Amino acid sequence: MKIAFIGLGNMGGGMAANLARAGHEVSAFDLSEDALARAKEAGCATFTSAREAVKGAEAVVSMLPNGKIVDAVYDSDVIGHAPSSALLIDCSTIDVATARKVMDAAKAAGHDMVDAPVSGGIAAANGGTLTFMVGGSEEAFARAEVVLGPMAKAVIRAGEAGAGQVAKMCNNMLLACHMIGTAEALKLADRNGLDMEKFYEISSKSTGYCWSLNDYTPVAGVGASSPADNGYAGGFATALMLKDLRLAMDAADRSGAKVDLGRKACELYEAADAAGLGGKDFGSIFETL
Ligand code: NAD
Repeated sequence: MKIAFIGLGNMGGGMAANLARAGHEVSAFDLSEDALARAKEAGCATFTSAREAVKGAEAVVSMLPNGKIVDAVYDSDVIGHAPSSALLIDCSTIDVATARKVMDAAKAAGHDMVDAPVSGGIAAANGGTLTFMVGGSEEAFARAEVVLGPMAKAVIRAGEAGAGQVAKMCNNMLLACHMIGTAEALKLADRNGLDMEKFYEISSKSTGYCWSLNDYTPVAGVGASSPADNGYAGGFATALMLKDLRLAMDAADRSGAKVDLGRKACELYEAADAAGLGGKDFGSIFETL
């Protein structure tokens, strides 16, 4: 297929490369020259604007920083420039309202469109093992599954337009809560004379088990290997977790959902970010305790 790919950053770079590796003709665009050079090396054709890249595309995939940029790029360079038969797939993590607004505009122009945010970080983007949570009609989902396949471990339809973004923000609010809980439990064990490795051995086989404890233990040298063992380098940045928590809090405010723990998690990640941990893996919340 001829696939246009917009946004070749930490995530999009590897994703576009996997589409090219799968034999698709990938037309890539990013504002960054370096990102374009890497995409070229990975077998993509590169363009000087999104508008040029989407010409004649059968599908357009975007992986951009935020909702404002997604809205602007689709409004100015995608809708009305890609053929109306092109399937549009936005994989960025953005607010539900903007996702639905862009999808409404796409539909009005005759496009099938899905929101398809991902779980899994840069390693999963490079390795083609992302989990996609997809919102859109059944027909659009069926078309999207084919395009997303080479980048995915799983492609799951969450529901109608925007449902992918809802799944993503709920998942990451839960992740933030169990990461903070895990860090606090390990610290409490330590402060009360229980060896943290022993606590890991017990709780990872007890009702305290969760991904943050069992698979991503946020303390160097304790439990499963994680970015903590590497000074919290790489992994999923505190700043990105904070972005996702703010999206969740915004949605909670709009919908009147009671999310006391999520709100506290957002406050704690705001403090971690202000303390200079924004660029470090989100397990570094342990360092603030
Ligand atoms: P990034 O900043 O590395 O990449 C974004 C890219 O978009 C950059 O290369 C930038 O130059 C480009 N860009 C910005 N404005 C543009 C425009 N108008 N036209 C074309 N290109 C433009 O970010 P990332 O880590 O790749 O994240 C992308 C999205 O994926 C975000 O929405 C993020 O929340 C989500 N996400 C990230 C991770 C992660 O671990 N990094 C995990 C899951 C989801």
